[in-house]
Amino acid sequence: MAIAASPNLDVESLRRELTGQVFAPEDSGYDDAQRLFVPVYDGVRPAVIAQVADASDIATVLTLARETGLELAIRSGGHSAAGHSTTNGGIVIDLRGLKSLEIDVESRIASAGSGLTAAEYSNETNAVGLATGLGDTGSVGLGGITLGGGIGFLVRKHGMTIDSLLAAEVVTANGEVVHADEESHPDLFWAIRGGGGNFGVATKFKLRLQPLDKIVGGMMVLPATTDTIVGFIAEAEQAPDELSTIANVMSCPPLPFVPEEIHGTLVIMALVAWCGDIDEGQKVMERFRGLARPIADMVQEMPYPEIYGPEDEEYRPLAVARTLWADSFEPATAETILGFLEASDAPMRVAQLRVLGGAMARVPDDKTAFAHRDRKMMINVASFYEGPDDRPRREEWVSDFAKALSNGDLSGYVGFLADEGQDRVRAAYPGATWDQLRRVKATYDPDNLFRLNQNIPPVR
Ligand SMILES: Cc1cc2nc3c(=O)[nH]c(=O)nc-3n(C[C@H](O)[C@H](O)[C@H](O)COP(=O)(O)OP(=O)(O)OC[C@H]3O[C@@H](n4cnc5c(N)ncnc54)[C@H](O)[C@@H]3O)c2cc1C
Repeated sequence: MAIAASPNLDVESLRRELTGQVFAPEDSGYDDAQRLFVPVYDGVRPAVIAQVADASDIATVLTLARETGLELAIRSGGHSAAGHSTTNGGIVIDLRGLKSLEIDVESRIASAGSGLTAAEYSNETNAVGLATGLGDTGSVGLGGITLGGGIGFLVRKHGMTIDSLLAAEVVTANGEVVHADEESHPDLFWAIRGGGGNFGVATKFKLRLQPLDKIVGGMMVLPATTDTIVGFIAEAEQAPDELSTIANVMSCPPLPFVPEEIHGTLVIMALVAWCGDIDEGQKVMERFRGLARPIADMVQEMPYPEIYGPEDEEYRPLAVARTLWADSFEPATAETILGFLEASDAPMRVAQLRVLGGAMARVPDDKTAFAHRDRKMMINVASFYEGPDDRPRREEWVSDFAKALSNGDLSGYVGFLADEGQDRVRAAYPGATWDQLRRVKATYDPDNLFRLNQNIPPVR
């Protein structure tokens, strides 16, 4: 649907003012500029997409957003499940051009543009034998994952991405460029470590790097039974912090390296990453191989960024998903998972199990705006759907599945929240965290200019 642009929106003068590029719907290149990871938002038509070149461009666009009153979306990697990085008839600040990366090998610190993807960042840092933990997907943007928290393949050894964040450059709602760290604007620095895009536009992150060249990692496919699932989780919990795992219990896709008779049956498609001594890592993997004879086993020594695996830009399935925390994992939990997966005929359905703990849990809850440090596991349930006809029943299945596993706990990881309502946003920030976030919001964005996000309203 075409939306009438605001009478105050003068695209031509914006083009003249910005160093970066501006796309309006009639411009060639607009459709490419609008394309996001999640295909559901393909039909959304912003009035203007500003591919900014620097903080000064951002300040200019923020002024325009204030003056026109148009809805403002901020985009780094464009992976928001909630569609927060685009807006019908509004203004998009697209940061994908901010790809600077300076690596100080000696002090092991990176200064990274927020428009880099996880893979771009990791490939360059790997070239000098260093790494920062991000997520499980190479195309996710550094901007979104860092501000939401960042739970990935190094989480148990080195904590979340925010635990490696030393400073950030942020353009606040009034256009001021602020350097935030433990000493300068510590309230803002606390809030952006988990509070998402509520407080300003992050242009640059200073991130701690760890010496890491190779890992023992990759995919292992095991048959999914109550025993193998429970065994997998127990092994992942008992393993040294060097091991982080993501176990996808799912219907097996028709993968060429899996025998045909397994396609469509329930398997554990696990991604594992060991970031310590290589020989010790190989031994730890034997414990997983001992759970059942692997259907496929591609776990091997590899450069760390290879764990992201190849991505096909044309493969853009429709999916509904729900995220939750779990504090224990019993055989009954595995049975519930298998029961739900067996009862669905969706082309793809999954329960993703991530054992947490380790370094992530050793940070106090009040140190950052992410305050779920003690949760033992993150579980994400998801179902693919084909279109509007089957979406309602897939959604119902996902919702029932999440309810069966969450015991009424509404809280979850903000990075994986879709557009699920304010109760879920509130629950993502437990206890005193919510009130403090609202105070910081009132300091840096009192008019809630940055409201197209998992929104934290300013305290009045
Ligand atoms: C396939 C997939 C896999 C994922 N895997 C993981 C994972 O393993 N671990 C994990 O922790 N998360 C994971 N996520 C969640 C992901 O971290 C969030 O969706 C994140 O917000 C995406 O960041 P982005 O920059 O790509 O998205 P965008 O859509 O560009 O940004 C999302 C929102 O973040 C805010 N934002 C982004 N950049 C900035 C910025 N520079 N300044 C201010 N605000 C900003 C804005 O509000 C924006 O709307 C995954 C998501 C997907 C789709």
